Amino acid sequence: MPPTDTTAPALGDTAQTDTDTVSVLLPMPVAGPYDYLVPGDMQLRPGDFVRAPLGSRELIGVVWGDAAGDVEEKKLRPVIAHIETRPLPDELRQFIDWVAAYTLSAPGAVLRMALSSPDALMPPKRITAYRAAGRQDGMRMTPARLRVFEMLQHGPAMTARDLANEAGVSQSVIKGLAEAGAIEQVSLEPPRLFADPDPSRPGLPLSDDQSRAAAHLCTDIAADRFAVTLLDGVTGSGKTEVYFEALAAALGAGRQVLVLLPEIALTPQWLDRFEQRFGVAPAVWHSDLRQLRRRKTWRAVADGAARIVVGARSALFLPFLELGLVIVDEEHESAFKQEDGVAYHGRDMAVVRARIADCPIIVTSATPSLETRVNVERARYKSIILPERFGRSVLPTIETIDMRAADLRAGQFLSKPLIDAITSTMATGEQSLLFLNRRGYAPLTLCRTCGHRFACPSCSAWLTEHRFRKRLQCHHCGYEEPAPVNCPACNNADTLVACGPGVERIAEEVIGQLPDVRFEIMTSDTMRGPEAAQRLVYAVENHEIDLLIGTQMVAKGHHFPNLTLVGIIDADLGLAGGDLRAAERTYQVLQQVSGRAGRAERPGHVLIQTFQPEHPVMRALANGDRDGFMALETDARRAGAWPPFGRLAAVIVSSRDPDLADGLAGALARCAPYGDGVRVLGPAPAPLALLRGRHRRRLLLKADRDVPIQGMMRRWLAQVRIPSNARVRVDIDPYSFL
Ligand code: ADP
Ligand code: ZN
Repeated sequence: MPPTDTTAPALGDTAQTDTDTVSVLLPMPVAGPYDYLVPGDMQLRPGDFVRAPLGSRELIGVVWGDAAGDVEEKKLRPVIAHIETRPLPDELRQFIDWVAAYTLSAPGAVLRMALSSPDALMPPKRITAYRAAGRQDGMRMTPARLRVFEMLQHGPAMTARDLANEAGVSQSVIKGLAEAGAIEQVSLEPPRLFADPDPSRPGLPLSDDQSRAAAHLCTDIAADRFAVTLLDGVTGSGKTEVYFEALAAALGAGRQVLVLLPEIALTPQWLDRFEQRFGVAPAVWHSDLRQLRRRKTWRAVADGAARIVVGARSALFLPFLELGLVIVDEEHESAFKQEDGVAYHGRDMAVVRARIADCPIIVTSATPSLETRVNVERARYKSIILPERFGRSVLPTIETIDMRAADLRAGQFLSKPLIDAITSTMATGEQSLLFLNRRGYAPLTLCRTCGHRFACPSCSAWLTEHRFRKRLQCHHCGYEEPAPVNCPACNNADTLVACGPGVERIAEEVIGQLPDVRFEIMTSDTMRGPEAAQRLVYAVENHEIDLLIGTQMVAKGHHFPNLTLVGIIDADLGLAGGDLRAAERTYQVLQQVSGRAGRAERPGHVLIQTFQPEHPVMRALANGDRDGFMALETDARRAGAWPPFGRLAAVIVSSRDPDLADGLAGALARCAPYGDGVRVLGPAPAPLALLRGRHRRRLLLKADRDVPIQGMMRRWLAQVRIPSNARVRVDIDPYSFL
């Protein structure tokens, strides 16, 4: 990374021409920087915010550098105005360029992610308050007036509303006093939204292993250079406590800290722990933030008032002023991969962000991704291991239940040993968790008489029944219709049957078999927004429920001390489909769910229902042989030259017109790059051949690791003209192959 020159001269200072020009990047999906003239009285530097014309519009953009000069100067339009505010930091501009180049996205599309709150550029509104002025002699002092006046004489300036409330008077009293000159208006800075965390507050006393790990991390903070460390610790080993030490060190050194969590549902408990440790709440960043909060948070990060941000991957694009540490918690999570718009992996881009900021980054997991493990093997990342759970807590015992021998009736999904285990867990006053990674009631509904199946009209997918809401829903596009009583094809009544289970159906079975169990369902349907997530998490913590039934939402990071039994309904679910990471991901999610059991004093048990108990994933889980399993997976990837031993880039062609999609995919295939170490597979219909009414075809470029694929991809795609009614999406390092 070249050193960033913060004392760059104003652009155009060295230009030979009389007129100055600059390039300005506008936050638009397809844009690169455009050239503009700089009016004579304006001084612009890279990173400055400006208003610039585009067609008939006026947009806020960022000065990106010297003009490219490919448009004649006399055809250029001038910048309209320089917005007087702190410029976009150099580091963030470099990051935007890097992400755009790596993902083959337009820089404007990436800038748009960084400027998600353009209002934040305007100075924050000052607050009008009142303070005491000279007492007016001729003025009649009523008791109400006197109360207000005396409050201000002995206290700080206050807003009219606060004054009226505290003194118990109407606002007209205050107006009267002001008119008479007894009190006067002052304009104040708005209060700070984020108080400074106190890094000197002591943390919990650490175990020897934890102290050693924390000391390692703190050495990196002290060195204040780019370094990647994997904090690899079993579930419940205290990874959070350990990285809090590094976080405290970075805050103490006057740096800002960014913590990425894969899932907003994780934050409530994390926030509590942070607040307990550091005395204040951190700034939170995610896509559901309300406009005002978003604006204030962006601004606070930009001017350094927010010292710590915990957020989703989009927080990578915040304008940190003095970023000194990045932490990626649960780094193996596929939720870090953004699939829409600019396709990027939050963990990988976090490493890039830290490299540009030249600061340390910590990635943590109990089940590190294969990519990260290989980076450790290659000595690009360091690793610190926490081999044991903290304190007296031990890892749960894990057993498989062979479902081939379970002898269940049709429509039943809970085996006898699992039901017995829930019953006895409840009897001892402990809590259980049932995991099934499927929302709704059933993934398919069909007619017993005519065989009609309910499919989405715009996707190649079946509709999932949501019985509580009496709706059928497509989980790919959100399409919904009411669940009918009669079959719409043959009109027979009572012939529709649900096939396969979802969490709602498991809940129904629980009600039937264990009527006294108090349960809740935890899915993205029941956890809309952080408040709902918080409510549910507290319901578990406060033991208002005995049983939690959930999807992958429950797998993540939660710490429920009284939860001792985990039952996995259909462990084989994620293995179907043949995605290159299917086994790894299944292992990770099942290990993480298992890790919810027995996290405090009482030991935990995990029961895994599977039709393939001899599968390497199930065996590794039952034998606790993570490293053996991952080593086998790594060998397989190496043998096939799959990532991270080779590179992949997906090209997804889509159009409402299937022939057009075929034609375009064929044209791309005909000019596909080939040669040493490069192959293009496809085109083939995507597994989701129809999505939101668009027909999709996929090509996959597979290359050796040392092939610079971005340039190759760019040259390839430039050879084919893309008609306006078709789209070509590029996904570098794809994680989804649907
Ligand atoms: P992980 O992230 O590795 O799963 P956590 O950081 O969530 O583990 O820790 C698991 C539990 O153990 C938490 O309740 C945490 O407060 C507790 N814990 C971890 N380390 C300590 C410690 N040194 N002292 C007291 N409690 C600890
Ligand atoms: Zn659909």
